Amino acid sequence: MKRRRLLLALAPALLASTWLARAWASSVPRASPVPGGVARIALGASASPPRARLGQARLLVTQEGREWFALVGIPLAAKAGSKLQVEVERAGRTERFDIGVAPKQYAAQHLKVPRDQVDLSPEDLARYERERAHLAAVLGTFSDAAPATLAMLQPAPGRRSGTFGLRRYFNGQPRSPHTGMDIAAPAGTPVVAANAGRVIDVGDYFFPGRTLIVDHGQGLLSLYSHLSAFDARAGDDVAAGAPIGKVGATGRVTGPHLHFSVYLNAVAVDPALFLPD
Ligand SMILES: [Zn+2]
Repeated sequence: MKRRRLLLALAPALLASTWLARAWASSVPRASPVPGGVARIALGASASPPRARLGQARLLVTQEGREWFALVGIPLAAKAGSKLQVEVERAGRTERFDIGVAPKQYAAQHLKVPRDQVDLSPEDLARYERERAHLAAVLGTFSDAAPATLAMLQPAPGRRSGTFGLRRYFNGQPRSPHTGMDIAAPAGTPVVAANAGRVIDVGDYFFPGRTLIVDHGQGLLSLYSHLSAFDARAGDDVAAGAPIGKVGATGRVTGPHLHFSVYLNAVAVDPALFLPD
């Protein structure tokens, strides 16, 4: 009798926690149509999934209840006030949806750096260009299987920098903005996969150092940089939370930390939108 009452008392709490977990997962990513954000387009109900594109890039399409939604990663370089045109094909028809890009001002950082640290040697420049082309091809991966969840785990314990989108200037010259979040953690701290997926690239690159990329499906990818070691290989299927490497300071960095990026339709979006608060 006593036990039964206890179970009955616990039931609402258990229900509430699964409800909360589900509510959290279905609100991820937090949508907002700003540069570096994610827009959500309601596509209505249909028997088969619609196909959606932004330019050449396929978009992630997900179903909630009966309704389909397209998720659109908005490039950091998109201008506030501009419109992005999404093409949706369903039941043999093509429809167009406009996304109005809302303003978001990211912080700027001005650094004075010795010239020899800014100007790459011809060999380093050639290496950088090769790697940039390779990484762009990898980050353009679109596999058909949809991710089971869009909610992600923080891949390493530690303080998050909140510097996604930071506009960087070296000696007054604009550089590429910061395309991820930095997590402060000592070298050797285990790094885990933020979501289930397949490791599609493992390499040691000029700027990001030892880097591993996981494909979660439908153009949702995560990237982990400056690793000291890898615990997974290209082609491995990994579960959310599975160890994939260790925090390090490889590449062009001043100290050990994890650089964590999330990509949607080959666009870097704010990883914080996919993480619990
Ligand atoms: Zn970083």
